[in-house]
Amino acid sequence: MVQGSANLNMELTEKWLQDYVDNWVSFFKKQTVEGEVASYIPVLAAADREALGISIIGKNGGTIKSGTIESKFTIQSISKILTFIVACMERGLSYVLNRVDVEPTGEAFNSIMHLEMTQPKKPFNPLVNSGALTISSMLEGNTSDQKLETLFILLEKIIGYRPEINVEAYESERDTSMRNRAIGYYLLEEGYLESDLGITLETYFKQCSIDVTIDDLARIGLVLSNDGLDPDTEEEIIPRKVTRLAKALMLTCGMYDASGKFAAYVGIPAKSGVSGGIMAVVPPRVREEEFPFLEGCGIGVYGPALDNQGNSMAGIKLLRHIANQWDLSLF
Ligand code: GLN
Repeated sequence: MVQGSANLNMELTEKWLQDYVDNWVSFFKKQTVEGEVASYIPVLAAADREALGISIIGKNGGTIKSGTIESKFTIQSISKILTFIVACMERGLSYVLNRVDVEPTGEAFNSIMHLEMTQPKKPFNPLVNSGALTISSMLEGNTSDQKLETLFILLEKIIGYRPEINVEAYESERDTSMRNRAIGYYLLEEGYLESDLGITLETYFKQCSIDVTIDDLARIGLVLSNDGLDPDTEEEIIPRKVTRLAKALMLTCGMYDASGKFAAYVGIPAKSGVSGGIMAVVPPRVREEEFPFLEGCGIGVYGPALDNQGNSMAGIKLLRHIANQWDLSLF
């Protein structure tokens, strides 16, 4: 059932929406050729450049999926919002916010510049690598597997199964990521790391290498849209205060240095990763006209051909188009 369409014939509405989304996906798929797949990790370089898929899951189970829907891909930077959530749940908000700020940088995700240029040299936000590494270092546990256990439990609750780490992605990330090591040493010198540097990096590389599907991303988005409550049982999975911060961070910093444009032209909280995934949150909204998913939905997108900022080239265009057609914007 599709939400927000109570006055229309449900089956027809669902078919119309599906047809529309199918057409939009075929249209924007042509634009994947303008992007490039990430090449710095072999697993990412091997991705199908022309793939484009979307999954939209509404609060009462209405689902629309189109394009490349079965592929598994590594979650990459989308994990940063999840480890932030876990750190807040384990350590409390003020503990986390004392160590990582919530300001957008306008710089690339792996930029080191702001760390040097500001006082105190606190990482700007949990979605740039310096902040994400700091967050990984404060997760509870002595080993990387222990540190990621709460994340896996949270993911299992949301997506219904325990996802796996893509070992090939993890190993190549570990063996190539010199810049992350440099950021790590910098954080170590400044006293931000709460665990051994090696364990912190291992935790970060592993969290980025978790395999997911667009349905998984849509389910995560839906729980955030539902203020942290399970959409079926209304049981609390993530505290409301934490989801509020997470969504604010996604809106202001979630799309790297294209976050401002995304907020202006799409207008919903979202987080992207270099594998071409995007997890987006559409909160419930009040509109005079009938629009799909008025009670809120989660959206997962996969399109590995990236733009210059490292976001899915066609994925952003597709989201922008749907947001305009269905008036999804918060504003
Ligand atoms: N593996 C990534 C890194 O280089 C995550 C990057 C991303 O998705 N932007 O840190």
